[in-house]
Amino acid sequence: AKENGRNQVQYYSRDFHEKIESRINLERDLKNAIQNNELVLYYQPQINTNDHSLAGVEALIRWNHPQLGLVPPDQFISIAEECDLINSIGRWVLDSACEQFSTWVRSYPDMDIVFSIAVNISAKQLRDKGLVEYLQQCIDNYNIPASRLEIELTESSLESSLVALDMLNALSASGIKLALDDFGTGYSSLSHLDDFPFDILKIDKKFIMSIEREEQAKLLKAVTNFAHSMDYETVAEGVETELQLEICKKLGINRLQGFYFSKPIPANEIEKAWF
Ligand code: C2E
Ligand code: CA
Ligand code: CA
Ligand code: CA
Repeated sequence: AKENGRNQVQYYSRDFHEKIESRINLERDLKNAIQNNELVLYYQPQINTNDHSLAGVEALIRWNHPQLGLVPPDQFISIAEECDLINSIGRWVLDSACEQFSTWVRSYPDMDIVFSIAVNISAKQLRDKGLVEYLQQCIDNYNIPASRLEIELTESSLESSLVALDMLNALSASGIKLALDDFGTGYSSLSHLDDFPFDILKIDKKFIMSIEREEQAKLLKAVTNFAHSMDYETVAEGVETELQLEICKKLGINRLQGFYFSKPIPANEIEKAWF
C-alpha cells in the first residue's frame, strides 16, 4: 500500500508538473494570439420566443491554437485575466464583433436592423478606464445603433469590488444595453439589482437544464416572474429540448438561446442558416 501511495504521489506530481508547464506555454502563446490572428468569434443565435425569428447573436470567443486546435474560452479567459491580457483581448472582441455586425448590416439590408449583437466582458475590463470611450469609438466607426449592442456581465462579477457602477452607468447612458449573465447563480441580493442599470437578465442554463425537476421548475418560475415584474427583458440560456422550449414559452421568457436552435457557429454559417 505504501508503494502504491508513493507511486500515486509521483503520478500526481508529474501530472501537476505537466499542468504547470502547459499553463506556462499557454500563457506564452496567448500573448501572441491576437497578432497571429488566432482568435476567432463564433456566434450563437438568440430567438424571439413568440415567432421564432432571429432576435440577435451572442459572440463567443475561441482560440485557434496552431497545435492544440480550437481552444474554448473556459481554458484561456481566466489565464488572460491573470496575466493582464484581458483588456487587449476584450477590446479585440468588441472591435471584431462590431465590425462583423456592420458587415452584416451592409450585406443584408433586407434584414433591416432587427437583430442585436451581444458581447461578453470580464469584470476585470471594468478597470480599463478607457473602455467606455473605446466602445463609443467602435459604435461610431462602424456606425452601429448603440441600442443594438448588448454587453454581458456575469452575476458573480457583481460581488467583486471591480464593478464600477460609474462605468456601467456611462455605458447605459450611451444607449448600449446591459445584460446580467448567469442570472440566479451568483449571490447578489435581489434588492441591490436595481442599483445597476441592467436591461436584460439572462437566466442561467442550470435552471433550464434541470427543468424536469419540480423544485427547479418552481425556481425558474419565481426567477422569471421576478424579472418581468421588475421590467427586465429575459433570455433563457441552454435550451436544448422541446420540453424546455415549451416551458420557457409558457413562462413568457422573451428570448431563447441554446443547442435546440443552434450551437455557436462561425459568422458565415450564421449567414447561411439564419439570414
Ligand atoms: P456564457 O457567456 O454563459 O456563454 C454560454 C456558454 O454556454 C457558451 O459556452 C455556449 O457554447 C454554451 N451553450 C450555449 N447553448 C448551450 C446549450 O444548449 N447547452 C449547453 N450545455 N451549453 C450551451 P462557451 O462558448 O464555451 O463559453 C463559455 C464562457 O466563456 C461564456 O459563458 C463566457 O462566460 C466566456 N466567454 C466566451 N466568450 C467570451 C469573451 O469574448 N469574453 C469574455 N470575457 N468571456 C467570454
Ligand atoms: Ca454570455
Ligand atoms: Ca451564461
Ligand atoms: Ca432599474
